[in-house]
Amino acid sequence: MENNTDLKRYDLLIGGESVPPGGGEYSVDLDPATEAPIARIAQGTSADVDRAVQVARGALKPWNAIRAAERGRILMRFSELLRANQDELAAVESLDAGKPIAGVQRQDVPAAIDTLAYYAGWCDKINGQVVPARPDALTYTVREPVGVVAAIVPWNFPLMIGMWKIAPALACGCTLIVKPAEITPLSALMIGRLALEAGVPPGVLNIVTGKGSVVGDALVAHPGIDKVTFTGSPSVGRGILQGAAGNFKRVTLELGGKSANVIFADANLDNAVRATASGIFFNAGQVCSAGSRVLVQREVYDQAVELLAQRAQAIKLGDPSQRETAMGPLISARQMKTVLDYVDIGKGEGASLVTGGRRVGDRGFFVEPTVFANVEHEMRISQEEIFGPVASVIPFDDEADALRIANGTAYSLAAGVWSADIGRVHRMASELRAGTVWVNTYGYTDVRLPWGGSGDSGFGREHGDVAIQNFTEPKSVWVSLTP
Ligand code: NAD
Repeated sequence: MENNTDLKRYDLLIGGESVPPGGGEYSVDLDPATEAPIARIAQGTSADVDRAVQVARGALKPWNAIRAAERGRILMRFSELLRANQDELAAVESLDAGKPIAGVQRQDVPAAIDTLAYYAGWCDKINGQVVPARPDALTYTVREPVGVVAAIVPWNFPLMIGMWKIAPALACGCTLIVKPAEITPLSALMIGRLALEAGVPPGVLNIVTGKGSVVGDALVAHPGIDKVTFTGSPSVGRGILQGAAGNFKRVTLELGGKSANVIFADANLDNAVRATASGIFFNAGQVCSAGSRVLVQREVYDQAVELLAQRAQAIKLGDPSQRETAMGPLISARQMKTVLDYVDIGKGEGASLVTGGRRVGDRGFFVEPTVFANVEHEMRISQEEIFGPVASVIPFDDEADALRIANGTAYSLAAGVWSADIGRVHRMASELRAGTVWVNTYGYTDVRLPWGGSGDSGFGREHGDVAIQNFTEPKSVWVSLTP
């Protein structure tokens, strides 16, 4: 292996300072497209977490001593600094997570900028209420910050999902410790620096890199943390819920999905299949809301499978730094193995592999866009989250059948419906068990609309005013008016 000590070294960001990890250990961060080492990343310890929590607690008062309007201006400056550095941010995110650069520039970076700007506007609008309870008292509520927040972020959208947590927490006057995924820490470290440059006081936004089982566990168990906001897998989410019980932390969990994209025979099939293909192949299928179950009404089933396979075969796989690349590698060797194992499982279960299913090349974690047809609802490839570019196409007879299949997994994050019948799309939108339903479109998110699910997809919502509720505690105040 190359001499990794020559690689750029990234330390923790605690209290506005670069801090080497307590144990002196660094991991090697890889480019998933080439498997080449790109950086050495500090492996935080539980002592580092202690220190970060102490610093973040100490920063609560100074952060809240800043007038709301001024806090909004600081967040707006932070957003503008992201914009000023957007090319570098996009390049870093694309390299670290293997995401095609055009997509990062079109979605991830603008969404992060927009999220910050949106919550900058909230800073001076977080109001309580005067609630007339009794004539002899003035009774009102105020919303106070929940306190110190641990934000645990996955590797599929490190910058965008990180900002979905950081921006509302800062707007509400919370301080944070962000733990990026071990394999995609670079954009979080960069935004930690930009926050300081924007005027966010030292200690308000701390970044502690390292293993989930060390840094994540220590944060979740720490009595000095008031809230955990987590996006990741259901199994880790379950552990977080248990670990957070010690001091009854508030918890928001955004977990996995096995979203159904339901195509009725009366839909515009070309549009439906185009969006369905990007719904499952975007970000190489490593999307919590990937439309991984494609439900197609029998009348148009064969045609839809053929069109989807054509779209899959036309996707340009390759170097994420090239603008024409539509799909990059999977994030890691482990993720690639998981996906290829599911291809074998699908074949073993008797589904028909229509296209794809193989690794591409022997350097980088590339897997072909894959389509399985004749998938039955009970098969594992229809029930379990693969988190890769694998579409399971399932036939259905009518609306009731579609709903039975669509609602028949443990997940309920998102769903899509394609139909020209306005009554049907509203019935489906009402009956589908999902936090988000897209009608005749697929995959959009926006910081103004609540995002999240239930069941194995977790609980709580991010975005919009819901996030403001999440990061504040209401307090009721009674002032006696009797002399
Ligand atoms: P993961 O659960 O393995 O890791 C997520 C984060 O948790 C990482 O930062 C990891 O280091 C940390 N972690 C791991 N073990 C921990 C522990 N014991 N204690 C505390 N933290 C720990 O998930 P992943 O593989 O990074 O991401 C893929 C999963 O995330 C998929 O299931 C996907 O559906 C889900 N996801 C959901 C959404 C959503 O909005 N619902 C968005 C993106 C990803």
